[in-house]
Amino acid sequence: MNKSWSSNFSYGFYKEILEIINEKYEQHLFRDIPNFISKDWGTYKIVLRHDIDLDLEKALEMAKMEFKHGIKATYMVMVNCPFYSLEDTQSKKILDNITEMGHEIALHFDSKRDINLYESTKENDLMTNLEFAISKLEQAISSKVFSISFHRPAPEIINGPLLVNKRINAYAKELMGWYLSDSKGSWREGNPVPKIKKPKKKLLQLLVLRWSNKRFFRTLGATFSDKLLHIKNLPNFKHKFR
Ligand SMILES: [Zn+2]
Repeated sequence: MNKSWSSNFSYGFYKEILEIINEKYEQHLFRDIPNFISKDWGTYKIVLRHDIDLDLEKALEMAKMEFKHGIKATYMVMVNCPFYSLEDTQSKKILDNITEMGHEIALHFDSKRDINLYESTKENDLMTNLEFAISKLEQAISSKVFSISFHRPAPEIINGPLLVNKRINAYAKELMGWYLSDSKGSWREGNPVPKIKKPKKKLLQLLVLRWSNKRFFRTLGATFSDKLLHIKNLPNFKHKFR
């Protein structure tokens, strides 16, 4: 396997991807999916997604880079993340900033960790906890949450319904027909560039978790080894594991 692209998360590589997106695709936020999903397809469409497991600051850098290239993406953030807290003023500022650039803020929900989390929850079922997480995020962004991506999704979520609790499910069958991601630390489906250049289906969901430049080391989230690396690189690590 050619390692040069499989582990290439450079600024230049991502910039190339963004340029192809601009040239070939009509971009959509996840919250807009109901407006076009069952209609005549017309042009090739893309929904670009980021799951923020680790670092809001890096998400902001990514959002700025996309903004510079005229790209819109959906940023899925966690409400119970050991690495950042939505309660922090700085986090709220970052989320505002990302929203102002035209991106969508949505929920990245960890069904394992976020279960039994809320003391006020009488019934600790998945949907009740999901609603709590949504309301927590809605408070933080002072806006509605329309979309959800599940962290390590359960089998019934993958290729599941388009709506879960009335929100767009990023793993819905309709959105998984053509799905490329760099999760688990590499572009598992192969070099994304030639694939994105020659669209094979009408809707592409692209999940991007990594990029880097000299200042910002690698990743927004995902693998355990990333998290270990991240802890080592975090000067003011203050949030405790739960
Ligand atoms: Zn995740």
